[in-house]
Amino acid sequence: MRIPRLALMAGALVGVLFAGTAHAATSSAPSYKPVLTKNKLYKSGKLGISVCEEPEVTSGTVDEAKIYFEAVMECLDKAWSPVVKKAGYRFTKTKFTVVTKEGTKIGTCGRFPWGAQAVYCPKEKAMYFLLSDNVIEEPTDLALMQVLAHEYGHHIQQLTGILKATDVIIAKDSESRALEALRRSELQAQCLSAAFVGRVWNSLGRPDTDWSILLKGHHNVVAALGARSGSEETHGSHASNKLWLERGFKAQSASACNTFSAPKSKVH
Ligand SMILES: [Zn+2]
Repeated sequence: MRIPRLALMAGALVGVLFAGTAHAATSSAPSYKPVLTKNKLYKSGKLGISVCEEPEVTSGTVDEAKIYFEAVMECLDKAWSPVVKKAGYRFTKTKFTVVTKEGTKIGTCGRFPWGAQAVYCPKEKAMYFLLSDNVIEEPTDLALMQVLAHEYGHHIQQLTGILKATDVIIAKDSESRALEALRRSELQAQCLSAAFVGRVWNSLGRPDTDWSILLKGHHNVVAALGARSGSEETHGSHASNKLWLERGFKAQSASACNTFSAPKSKVH
């Protein structure tokens, strides 16, 4: 099944980038605020649960797909709530809404973007997921779980002040610095998604090829998107995506996801 993995472009941080003064390129990370580089999230240990039961899907109906995604959301809540609390932040669940059409109005966050699978709206702490035909037929595709976990990663960034701090850079800094911050934020969401998948992996009973196919898959997305908003400029190269996905998966924790302290070479 071909999945429109464009969810990767559906970041919470889509916005206008302003051109500004150029900064000299360095190989190390720019000096970001402590909320980005020293967030207690990075020291909050492994995710709360290691077992996530995926409901069986047999008939390929809308109701079945909804049940499946709600179960994954519940796993995400259970996995992340103790981590967020341990890091000293208040945990709240993200609202989860299924939409059936691109362009649907999504609260105060405008309209559901074309080509996206899921979006996170930070203002409302709400996640919107497009129940397209491919999803209804095969909701158990690992890429879809990963997409949910990626958007949930933006929710974790929102709860821990990371998203807000990144938005300030994006709004005020030069275009190249804004893009770099955006990439660091998106790659972090990838890492956080993989921390979840890695943490519950053994309970899923999936073949290892599911994961290796997912690691390879991103390349096609980036290639297909070309210079559009979901391009490597905003979401990182295939190599960077693979790196952070693998790191998160292995660590099963946000400890591996400090993209804001990583050298530029790791977030290109
Ligand atoms: Zn994103």
